[in-house]
Formats: sequence, structure tokens, C-alpha cells
Amino acid sequence: MTIVASPSELKCDSSSGLPVKLFQAARLIRQGELVAFPTETVYGLGANAANPDAVAKIFQAKGRPTDNPLIVHIASADMWTALARGINDRALSLAERFWPGPLTIVLPRTDAVPDVVTAGLDTVGVRMPSHPLALALIRESGCPLAAPSANRSGRPSPTTAQAVLDDMGGIIPMILDGGSCSVGVESTVLDLSGVTPVVLRPGGVTVEALREYLPDLAVDPSALAPLSDIQRAASPGMKHRHYAPRIPLTIVTGERQANILAYQYDNAVTKGETPVLLTTNETAQVLFPRRCITLGSRNDLERVSSQLFGALRGIDESGATVAFAESYPVEGAGLALMNRLLRAAGFNTVNTVNTVNSDYTSNRL
Ligand code: AMP
Ligand code: MG
Repeated sequence: MTIVASPSELKCDSSSGLPVKLFQAARLIRQGELVAFPTETVYGLGANAANPDAVAKIFQAKGRPTDNPLIVHIASADMWTALARGINDRALSLAERFWPGPLTIVLPRTDAVPDVVTAGLDTVGVRMPSHPLALALIRESGCPLAAPSANRSGRPSPTTAQAVLDDMGGIIPMILDGGSCSVGVESTVLDLSGVTPVVLRPGGVTVEALREYLPDLAVDPSALAPLSDIQRAASPGMKHRHYAPRIPLTIVTGERQANILAYQYDNAVTKGETPVLLTTNETAQVLFPRRCITLGSRNDLERVSSQLFGALRGIDESGATVAFAESYPVEGAGLALMNRLLRAAGFNTVNTVNTVNSDYTSNRL
């Protein structure tokens, strides 16, 4: 059975101290069990990072490949120095600017980090989340938490407690419900272990914001491209299928996306499919009355990002048999958004309409 601690049971007020459910969650962590908890990015599935048996349960619960390392979540600078070596001025100034927040910093690891956490790598990714419940759980447990996203491997990351329950109900003992995640995409993974700093995975902190501190910052090509079997990914997680809905999803790219989306939709209907479109509010208006799941305004890509994982789960619940999504510019928040969307679609893209059908190539839409 999975206990779900509700937001009202987790309210912290200064007079009564920590809520009972948080003590219970921290006790489970100390006993080597798993607890799902909210962060500002997505819900995490946490275990005591120093306990290899507890961490092994994460891989089992998620069905996660064991070559995909976990991020370790901390609540103090002391925890960081116990886990990572080579914390120099550059690393410290980034932590000062972006922690607590959605930035994971990869550095050489100390002997305190078990192999199972880093999938055998000699580096460790560490971040300090900003969600008060995450910080309270880490502090009360008294140990850093190894925590990937709390979904079954390959599924969209959970941004609500209900999404965690859908994937992990009956598998883990406890979920802390802190409401919807504000950022809604995972952290930016920044590798500082080499001479040149590299973004291994775009996320909640933009490349542009990091460049102000790291003018020589590079972005790993896996951010927007699939890796061939031969290429060795610097960030092993990037090579696995991710975030995928259960039905086929195709991303529409290039000019005049509304025309292409309309064509793909109507063509699918003709073939007896039940299509659904993943779009911004503006595009949905143009495509009315075709069925759209909307993500917010195209002028607010942070908001669109925060709605993406819920919408990908919504595709599965919609009863549709095929889905098409609008695409976004790969700048600012758009880079992490397109990184997730491309993986969800298995890099399936389309950028033409069938020119035989001239209706769709006109400016009708
Ligand atoms: P998740 O826990 O599902 O958010 O995935 C964690 C991501 O961080 C994966 O894509 C990993 O490849 C990446 N990551 C974690 N630790 C390291 C590390 N030591 N070196 C490189 N990438 C890492
Ligand atoms: Mg994940």
C-alpha cells in the first residue's frame, strides 16, 4: 500500500514544528525505503544516497537501466563537500547564484558516494532543490537523497502527486503531495569536471543564464539530437527513450505549422484514426474545432514547459490513437522544452503538407 500525505497534512507552521507525515517520511528514508517528494522541477523518488541497497530499490521501482546515474539532492553546503571533489570558485559562484534551484552540478565524486548512485562513473551530479518540502525531508532524514524523477522509466516525468501514484502506486510506501511543480521540467545538468563546462541536459536554468557566468560554456549535441549506438553519451540518461506517451507522437516543424497540423489531423481522421494535437493557445484557436490539448501562450515558454509532462500524460488519457505537436524555437526555455518533446516523439518530425491537397498549402488558416 502507498500512503499519500496530502498538502494539508504537510502544512508547516512555526508553532507546531514539522508535520507528523514528514517525520514518518524521514524515518522511512533512514530505514532504507523510498519516498516520492515534490521539487520545483518534477517529483523525485528519493532514497538515502549513502545506502546502496536503498538506492538499488529506485532502479527496481522505476525499471530504470542501471547505467543511468542518479542526481543527489542536498540541503546544505556541507553535504556537497562530503560528496564532490574540486569544488572551486567557479563551482561555488554558480551554486551561490542558482541554488537552491534547478541546476545540477557534475564534479568528481568522493568515496562517500556508492557506485550504484553514479552508475560506476567517477563523477557525481548534485543539486539543492528549492521546494520547502524537499529541503525539509532531506534535513529531517539527515542524509542526501539520491532521486531521479518518480515515474516508471520511459514515461513522462510526474509533475503532480497523482501522476506519481499512477506510476508508483503499490510499489513505493509513501508519496508527499506538494501540489503541482512550478518549473515542471527537470534540472539543467552542468558538467564542471573537465576544462570546458558542458551542459549535458538542458533544463530549468537556461544556457543563456549560465553563459553570463561561463562564457566558454558548451552544449552537448545530445540536447537536440538522437545519439547513434556508437556515440558514447557523456550524460548516459540522454540515450534512453524518455517521456513517451503510449500512442505515436509526431512533431511538426518549419514554417506554417498550423497548416501542417491541420493537414495531419484531417488526414488521420480520413484514415479512421482519432487524432489529438498538442499546441499553444494561439494555435488551438486557429485550428478550432480540431481537438487540441493546450499548453499556454506561445509568448510564455516557461509556462508551456511547465505544462508539457502533464499534457503528455493527457494524450494517453484522451482516447486518441495518434498525436501531433507544435514545435518551439530552441532558445531560452525553448531548448529544454524541445529536448523533452523530441524525446517524447522518438525524434519523429514532419514539416510538409501533402501538396496534392492545395487547401492546406493556401493561407486558409
Ligand atoms: P533523472 O534522474 O531522470 O532526472 O536523470 C538524471 C540525469 O542526470 C540523467 O540524464 C543522467 O545522465 C544525468 N546525470 C546524473 N549524474 C551524472 C553524472 N555523474 N555525469 C553525467 N550525467 C549525470
Ligand atoms: Mg527522469
